[in-house]
Amino acid sequence: MLDFNTAIPVDISARINGLIDNALEMEESFSAKRNYLGGSRLGVHCERALQYDFTHHPKDQGRHFSGRILRIFSRGHWVESEMAKWIQGTEFGITLETRDGGQMGFVSHDGYVKGHIDGFIKAGPQDLGPFPRLWECKGLGAKYWRAVKKHGLKKERPTYYGQVQYYMAKIPNLSNNPALWCAVNMDTMELYWESVPFDPEYAEKLDAKAWRIINACKAGELLPRDSERPDFFKCKMCDWRITCHGIKR
Ligand code: SF4
Repeated sequence: MLDFNTAIPVDISARINGLIDNALEMEESFSAKRNYLGGSRLGVHCERALQYDFTHHPKDQGRHFSGRILRIFSRGHWVESEMAKWIQGTEFGITLETRDGGQMGFVSHDGYVKGHIDGFIKAGPQDLGPFPRLWECKGLGAKYWRAVKKHGLKKERPTYYGQVQYYMAKIPNLSNNPALWCAVNMDTMELYWESVPFDPEYAEKLDAKAWRIINACKAGELLPRDSERPDFFKCKMCDWRITCHGIKR
């Protein structure tokens, strides 16, 4: 006689996580792809990688965003909005959106480059001024958070440093005073703040880099690789390593 009452053992974590991951990945696959070069990404060193990103070149097999990575992105948005609330509870005055409730940002390079800032601090304790100051926030795993705290934003997170520089350059009145950049340790919830002065020369280099990428894409040309070695550590982390280095599978 068949016994329909004996439960078949199920790994419920794997089962439920699979459902969540599938839903997240499906949603991501249908989400609108941005049709511009993100100002937040210009600090990425490899111009060819930025070309692939800008033109939505298909990523190498297995390099799509998994459900877990998508949840990490969500966590970043969550911590940014919590951080804004924590700041609002102090004597700082912070602006997070435009008058009509939109995201604050800029458009440049004939519309090919866009960026959106987390906010700016318009007032606050005198010893932390003068204001306004660009405010950017990131959530980092403990290892990366400790490294930034020890060595500083520019050395440890050059992409984020580039983002801050470019936003200061592009948003009116935000280059006069150093940006306030903060990182939340996502393991311990410790906070690290860094004052980031504007570097106009660096921002100009990013401007020129954006034009090089746009013009090369328009001309159908590939810019030089960051490294000719596919085992270079940055290439090993790149979503287009197989395509870029022409690796045969
Ligand atoms: S594999 Fe390396 S050189 Fe090629 S796009 Fe990626 S980072 Fe750049």
